[in-house]
Amino acid sequence: MNYDFTENSEYDFENRMVSPEYTPEDAEVENPLRPKRLTEYIGQEKVKENLSVFIEAARLRKESLDHVLLYGPPGLGKTTLAGVIANEMHVNLRITAGPAIEKPGDLAALLTNLNEGDVLFIDEIHRLSRSVEEILYPAMEDFALDIITGKGQMAASYHLPLPRFTLVGATTRAGQLSAPLRDRFGVMLRLELYTPQQLADIVTRSAQILGISIEADGALEIASRSRGTPRIANRMLKRVRDFAQIISDGVINYQTAKIGLDRLEVDEIGLDSNDRRMLTALIEFYSGGPVGLETLAAAIGEEAVTLEDVYEPYLMQIGFLKRTPRGRCATHAAYLHLGLKPPGDTNEGNMQQKLIGT
Ligand code: ADP
Repeated sequence: MNYDFTENSEYDFENRMVSPEYTPEDAEVENPLRPKRLTEYIGQEKVKENLSVFIEAARLRKESLDHVLLYGPPGLGKTTLAGVIANEMHVNLRITAGPAIEKPGDLAALLTNLNEGDVLFIDEIHRLSRSVEEILYPAMEDFALDIITGKGQMAASYHLPLPRFTLVGATTRAGQLSAPLRDRFGVMLRLELYTPQQLADIVTRSAQILGISIEADGALEIASRSRGTPRIANRMLKRVRDFAQIISDGVINYQTAKIGLDRLEVDEIGLDSNDRRMLTALIEFYSGGPVGLETLAAAIGEEAVTLEDVYEPYLMQIGFLKRTPRGRCATHAAYLHLGLKPPGDTNEGNMQQKLIGT
């Protein structure tokens, strides 16, 4: 058996059907499908409850909303929520991303162009450079830009007032944010993976907007395979629509969804061949773990951070993977799903102990 997944992988990690990351292909449907108001935004009840209180209070005080940090895996609706916040506050939304702001001057230009109350959304805010971050601190705290020009005796400093704006930052990893930046957010909200029923509601709503006929069991089948992530659910809906046109007069029912997604090699719980390879590597090379993240990532030719941000949240949520202080462990359920024999009684005992030690 050849274990070198790096050499033999024909799998395109960038373009997987079940990748929660944004791809240009998503652009066509994402914008029209984005909910505009809090009441249209499905799920994330705790987040919505908190936000509606803060929004209401800010509106009553006629103030801008406190800066908000949204964190959680990609594709769960952080950009959408920034738009909802701007709509609810009746202000404009400006969208940018950490890696796009290269120099302090880029950020200064963005900030000086804002209107009173506007929402500035910075995606991947953990990727801002240190020098850009330093411009952000006084901007967030005092609504001012502190600029120093020239050097030595020619140096001059300017204090430029800014409109009172709301920064909405999004990150997949709150832990990677520097403490001074994190501390300047008044509101921190964690987005959770969605339940199949919430995703079925999202798929049904999207189908309505796109003029696709879908039956409840079809929506639920797509939902169950979309890894708790609306972006994946919407992408699958678009693909399954093509199958429905050929095999069921354009109507998506359970059967069409099943056939379509089986063909796309996404199994009934949303794992694709890549997830199965990762779990198989963990089980077959490292006896189910514990194994360090870096080692496991190297074995399947991936970056550790991608494993951590993109694959693991879902595998942990469905109880296939555990993070322990000594490394990653595959669970009993993962063995069974892959059709592999879980470790026998003694091994099982050991494994349980490893898991309990987490
Ligand atoms: P993120 O910024 O977290 O990567 P997005 O906000 O871009 O995610 O959401 C991806 C897609 O999922 C959007 O097109 C949106 O239509 C859909 N979506 C996300 N959250 C929801 C939700 N709560 N209700 C309905 N659709 C949603």
